[in-house]
Amino acid sequence: MAEVLVYVDHVDGAVRKPTLELLTLARRIGEPVAVALGAGAENTAAALAEHGAVKVLTADAPEFAEYLVVPKVDALQAAYDAVSPAAVLVPSSAEGKEIAARLAVRIGSGIITDAVDLEVGDEGPVATQSAFAASFTTKSRVSKGTPVITVKPNSAAVEAAPAAGAVEALPVTFSALATGTKVTSRTPRESTGRPELTEAAIVVSGGRGVNGAENFGIIEALADSLGAAVGASRAAVDAGWYPHSNQVGQTGKSVSPQLYIANGISGAIQHRAGMQTSKTIVAVNKDAEAPIFDLVDYGVVGDLFQVVPQLTEEVNSRKG
Ligand code: FAD
Repeated sequence: MAEVLVYVDHVDGAVRKPTLELLTLARRIGEPVAVALGAGAENTAAALAEHGAVKVLTADAPEFAEYLVVPKVDALQAAYDAVSPAAVLVPSSAEGKEIAARLAVRIGSGIITDAVDLEVGDEGPVATQSAFAASFTTKSRVSKGTPVITVKPNSAAVEAAPAAGAVEALPVTFSALATGTKVTSRTPRESTGRPELTEAAIVVSGGRGVNGAENFGIIEALADSLGAAVGASRAAVDAGWYPHSNQVGQTGKSVSPQLYIANGISGAIQHRAGMQTSKTIVAVNKDAEAPIFDLVDYGVVGDLFQVVPQLTEEVNSRKG
């Protein structure tokens, strides 16, 4: 069976959810061979094996931490040369897309970015992408070289599929370019204790209807009662009420959680583009004609300042 390279996104050995989703998609195409780099790479093996990796190629060197993406591209290319895979799958983060694009150029292959699904076609993997603010989906395949495909978070379920996950050291020779761009400092983002927006199973968002930074506390309280991430519309972000890193939509992040709760958000096309693939959508809006209600599974016509605290109280009371 053909092997499929999966680039692993991890933090000190803790594998991030989008990589586990990639393993689900990789198993449709062939046998997943994971490539884990940097500090803690070997500690990723158990989680990767549990989700279908037949092999885990690991490499660690100071270059991975001290320089930007080129050392990682060198390593992924070394894995590519060693395995001759049927496809290379990479998570669609900013870094993942840069690594994938550089690899595709080096190996002379076509690339598809931001896929939301993958299936097996007669002539190789067929990727689904969402286009024009999610008004259309397109299907495409790479027609030259080995397909390099980046996949957005929440595009597939995480499935248990135990496999050998044998760890093998990957020998890497760094290219002359590897040390061209040095990391000079890192500032960890202050932790809110909430899940990462693009990976969260539940997202609670606030829009212009929240009417001020100080009122976002009620959105956060509902999010915390549900163990959810907090999102915001661009109107709320542009007003300075919430950080841009939490913006959902065309010029923000795309989310596809099990549950999305939109509060005081009208449902503009650019906002929908980032959340309309959510499994269940709930909206609270005082205007019964708001376009968001065309999209929802459950809608509450009401003042969010009354509805949201009641909802939070109800959720908390059910937790006993
Ligand atoms: P509004 O459209 O003003 O809606 C506020 C809603 O709150 C209304 O429906 C109102 O009835 C309701 N409301 C008010 N008070 C209450 C209350 N007390 N209780 C309940 N409901 C209440 N937008 C994004 O969100 N994300 C993007 O990434 C994005 N990218 C864009 C890119 C481009 C190129 C452009 C042109 C626009 C983009 N926009 C984006 C902006 C988008 O067009 C809308 O302007 C924006 O989404 C509106 O945000 P909103 O729904 O919070 O505000």
